Amino acid sequence: MERESVGDVEVTALSDCLMVYSASSIYPKAGDDMQRYSAYLTEDGSVEMNCACFLLRADGATVLMDAGLGPESDGQLMSELEQAGVAPGDIDVVIFSHLHGDHTGWNVDRDSGQPKFPNARYLVERRDWEQLLAQDPPARSFDRDFQPLQAADSIEPIDLDHRLTDSLVATSIPGHTPGHLGVAIESGGERGLLIGDSMLSAIDIEEPDWENSYDRDSDTARQTRRELVERLEADATLVGAAHLPVPSLGHVVRAEGRLVWRGLGS
Ligand SMILES: [Zn+2]
Repeated sequence: MERESVGDVEVTALSDCLMVYSASSIYPKAGDDMQRYSAYLTEDGSVEMNCACFLLRADGATVLMDAGLGPESDGQLMSELEQAGVAPGDIDVVIFSHLHGDHTGWNVDRDSGQPKFPNARYLVERRDWEQLLAQDPPARSFDRDFQPLQAADSIEPIDLDHRLTDSLVATSIPGHTPGHLGVAIESGGERGLLIGDSMLSAIDIEEPDWENSYDRDSDTARQTRRELVERLEADATLVGAAHLPVPSLGHVVRAEGRLVWRGLGS
């Protein structure tokens, strides 16, 4: 758990679990160029990806962005929330960067079949939501993570540029999925941006043009990354990125002429 402020907004990064993927499966076209980034890889050439969720306290509201992989993966989101002093019933809004199963795992309480965050509205980007509903056969995570929310009337489709509070806006950062969104924070002249899966590892900050296997629309995702890394550095934005190393909070900075990731505490 790592806490930071953006103006009057409190941002807490919570780690649900770690996922490990071989770098060559994420970046299949990198080839020998991958050797330049061995410092970001494990000894066997894998990327250790955090599965981070972000708690925002802003303008009297308590917002959770993304809901991790869930209990089947020994996820720690609930104990992380408890350490942050937040009970599930305190969450007013759950918002998803996108609807893949590693971001929705704690939506529903496994014992009761009811929403895990009983007082929350669960906000889903409209196009991604409609795609998920149209999927045939349904996505594996749909029945587990969304059907019970539908039954409880807890889901609210939103359009992008949706204002969550005075300081928080759901903004489009497309490519990973068509409706992939970030939560932009603006308070007291400071900025933050929670970027979901726009960047999966620190390599993406240095090589925003590399294709990765998980982007639905690679051209759009690469365009998004190229623009993002420049803007995040220029604006000294606090960045929360779901899969970057723990604590998944940090900044894009310029070092020896290159844009690089600098995680908090590193
Ligand atoms: Zn993800």
